[in-house]
Amino acid sequence: MRILITGAAGFLGSHLSDTLLADGHEIIGMDNFITGSPDNIAHLASNKNFSFYERDVSNYIFVPDKVDAVLHFASPASPNPQSKSGYFNLPIQTMKAGALGTHNCLGLAKVRNAKFLLASTSEIYGDPEVHPQPETYAGNVDPIGTRAVYDEAKRFAESLTMAYHRFHNVNTRIVRIFNTYGPRMDLEDGRALPNLLKQALLGQPLTVYGDGAQTRSFCFVDDLVNGIVKLLYSEEHLPVNIGNPVEMTILQFAETINRITGNKAGIIFEDSRSARDPQRRRPDITRAKQILDWEPKVDLEEGLRRTIPFFQKKLGLA
Ligand code: UDP
Repeated sequence: MRILITGAAGFLGSHLSDTLLADGHEIIGMDNFITGSPDNIAHLASNKNFSFYERDVSNYIFVPDKVDAVLHFASPASPNPQSKSGYFNLPIQTMKAGALGTHNCLGLAKVRNAKFLLASTSEIYGDPEVHPQPETYAGNVDPIGTRAVYDEAKRFAESLTMAYHRFHNVNTRIVRIFNTYGPRMDLEDGRALPNLLKQALLGQPLTVYGDGAQTRSFCFVDDLVNGIVKLLYSEEHLPVNIGNPVEMTILQFAETINRITGNKAGIIFEDSRSARDPQRRRPDITRAKQILDWEPKVDLEEGLRRTIPFFQKKLGLA
């Protein structure tokens, strides 16, 4: 297939590009670099099956020649208010990437008769009242809450995707992505893993927000990409959760990072960064198992070991 990936210079977009290139596809990458990095795709520059356009997907997008699939991964995604690349500091761009960007990608997919896959998110469940979260749970999101620019843009994007599927018969897919980590994460994006792993490798105390009792479930990027590719190859049009169902508190997560890195500086507790920090999050992956025969294989310790060398290099430690 000849596949357009928006957000190709991002953490997930770049890994997805690698995997689909290895699978024999041709990739057209697109990114405006407001949160993605040229470093993430530098290794693809000489690959004859990879081409790249520096574009903002919230404007009209044109791609010459045939397009068989459009994978929309462009969006700021970090909820940390302190991060320059987080959606708190890019609120309008975030809404435009989710709303106008999805519209442009769907329009392109429709006119070229291409498949479309939307990168959606566990954030559409908001601060969930149902645990773990199955795809049938409609969510608990405040439309004017501090996370709304991301959550509501992605919710709109899902609605628009289903509208194009139901009304225009576009061959669509929706993946709801849960917390993911691995090499090529932005060390400065303020999320739990980059913050805590960076602190641990520098021998600093780990900053846990609130009391650390809030939970998350962390998926290694290779597992996640493998699930997304299976969804692309499937004929499933309804949303599918992809994530790791092993749930832990953020305090346990921080302790694991200190243990694996041998950091002796301990943990400090800071004010919870926002009143809307979801308290619990874990994917119900029953549908992914049944429909895609997919489940994650890399546990947290192994995933950390595979992520650490990238962080050490970025920090000038190796
Ligand atoms: N967190 C933390 N310390 C940090 C960064 C994040 O305790 O230095 C917590 C954060 O409050 C949240 C969890 O880790 O409860 C996961 O945050 P992340 O930013 O990775 O993404 P989220 O899952 O909230 O979308």
